[in-house]
Amino acid sequence: MLNKKTVEDVEVAGKKVLVRCDFNVPLDENGNITDETRIVGALPTIQYLVNNGAKVILCSHMGKPKGEPVPSMSLAPVAKSLSEKLGKEVVFAADDNVVGENAKAAVQAMKDGDVVLLENTRYRKEETKNVDEFSQELASLAEVFVDDAFGTAHRAHCSNVGVSKYIPAVGGYLIQKEIEFLGNAVNAPVRPLVAVLGGSKVSSKISVIENLLKKVDKLIIGGGMAYTFFAAQGKTTGTSLLEADYIDYAKKMLDEAGDKIILPVDAVIAEKFENDAPSQVVEGNIPEGWMGLDIGPKSVELFKSVLSDAKTVVWNGPMGVFEMPNFAKGTNEIAAKLAELDAVTVIGGGDSVAAVNQAGLGDKMTHISTGGGASLEFLEGKELPGIACLEDK
Ligand code: ADP
Ligand code: MG
Repeated sequence: MLNKKTVEDVEVAGKKVLVRCDFNVPLDENGNITDETRIVGALPTIQYLVNNGAKVILCSHMGKPKGEPVPSMSLAPVAKSLSEKLGKEVVFAADDNVVGENAKAAVQAMKDGDVVLLENTRYRKEETKNVDEFSQELASLAEVFVDDAFGTAHRAHCSNVGVSKYIPAVGGYLIQKEIEFLGNAVNAPVRPLVAVLGGSKVSSKISVIENLLKKVDKLIIGGGMAYTFFAAQGKTTGTSLLEADYIDYAKKMLDEAGDKIILPVDAVIAEKFENDAPSQVVEGNIPEGWMGLDIGPKSVELFKSVLSDAKTVVWNGPMGVFEMPNFAKGTNEIAAKLAELDAVTVIGGGDSVAAVNQAGLGDKMTHISTGGGASLEFLEGKELPGIACLEDK
């Protein structure tokens, strides 16, 4: 894991170890967990610590309770699910103060190999403001801190960054995997490296475009952001997503990047933003009153041919409005192409991951990032506070 210490670099036997997990799982109206991916993802680190005789104190946020106890966002259901998966009781330290009397008593009673889960860290208003008092309270429970929450690594909160001021902080297996795959794909790739960017807006991905252009051999641009580039090429874009303020920027990018940037050559256009709206394929100008909702078949072929040579692919952002079946084809075809490539394929971004999973191809990718916002900031080349605060090797 680059130059950061991991759980394997510190003594954990007999020690109280605080682990920041990402248990921000979706619940249905009855409080049942509807997707356990994040719980499963946290198991390797927890299991390692249990096997090595640590007293394992888990913490996480869930949802946005905005600094007060909200029973529907309690982590109690997570303790139940974890107990089943680990095959041993995970004691839930119900406590409106997170680190209150109840939590302290539960930690006090721990034996080596025991696991305690604290209440939702965002029950405390200090958490998202990284206020020292709460960081100190959390740190006072343990002797070592392990961060395994990649999903919050782009935020500096008490439970992932603040605690590292008070006790030694290292990375868990999940965070290690994320840094390895995302980091190597962007900074030490097997070439050719091709990035596929899509999604709705140029403005939200400018830093990603700029950072990736420096690193990639080819940059494929699809999705809603492509129409601002269409406009930069002098094409009309109808009622497609268009960021007029960014047309000059797109022109500059195209001038500077030369043939590094690959744009769609056709579009699936519709009269309305609806799945069943009348649609057609056009090359060149998009007529007035029509909007581009997916890349067209010629673009799919062009993108596939560029991808054929790739040895590393980083994908962020769907090629079209994949939530509507009639405009999901471009995204699905690119996902299928990635699935059959003999290359390292890394998917980052909440909607891109959802699209790949919707296509049933999640397990065909080398790495699917668990952090939407965090993976995006990683692709922007930013230093993530949740990683920067870990001890150097
Ligand atoms: P990610 O979460 O993977 O970073 P984004 O949030 O940037 O991706 O973009 C995803 C959204 O972009 C999806 O909701 C998708 O419907 C939308 N999108 C893609 N193509 C278009 C388009 N041509 N017109 C409007 N929206 C689009
Ligand atoms: Mg998104």
